[in-house]
Amino acid sequence: MREPVTAFVGLGANLGDAQQALRDALAGLARIPQTVVVRSSRMYRSAPVDAGGPDYLNAVAQVETRLTAPQLLAQLQSLEQAAGRERPYRNAPRTLDLDLLLFGAARIESATLTVPHPRMRERAFVLLPLRELAPERVSAEDLAAVAHQRIAALPAAS
Ligand code: AMP
Repeated sequence: MREPVTAFVGLGANLGDAQQALRDALAGLARIPQTVVVRSSRMYRSAPVDAGGPDYLNAVAQVETRLTAPQLLAQLQSLEQAAGRERPYRNAPRTLDLDLLLFGAARIESATLTVPHPRMRERAFVLLPLRELAPERVSAEDLAAVAHQRIAALPAAS
C-alpha cells in the first residue's frame, strides 16, 4: 500500500452562507476515502483577487492521504460539484472552490494538475492560513509580497 502523504487543501467560498459552505466542505474532506483531515486553519475573510462578487471566506486544511494527487483532485472536484458550483464564466463567484496546494514534496505539472498550486504564493488568503498549519512552508518574503491584500481572521467560532 502507498505511504500516506501530507497534503494541504485551500478552501474558498463567497456565495450564500459561505461559513456553512466551508464547514460542509471540511466535513466532505473527512469523508474522502483513504484520507483523514489532520487539522484546519481558522477561517479568514478576504477581498476577491481577480474575481468579482462579495468577500471570500477562506481556510486551509491539512490532510493525510493514501490517494495519488490526481485521485485527490478528483475527490475535491466532486465536492465542488456537490456544493452546486456553476461556472458561467472564468473566475465567476462560486459557492465552493477547493485547490490542491501542496502534496508532500511533489512537483507535478500535467494538463489538469499543477502542484504546488501555481498561484498560491500570490495569495494572502492561502499563505496566512497555511502558515498556521505549516509555518516552514511559508517564507517571510512570501508574506511580504502579499502584505497589501485585505484579509482578516474571523473570530474563533463560539
Ligand atoms: P479553478 O477554477 O481555479 O478551480 O481551476 C480549476 C481547474 O484548475 C481544473 O481544471 C483543474 O484541473 C486545474 N488545476 C490545476 N492545478 C490545480 C490544483 N493544484 N488544484 C486545483 N485545480 C487545479
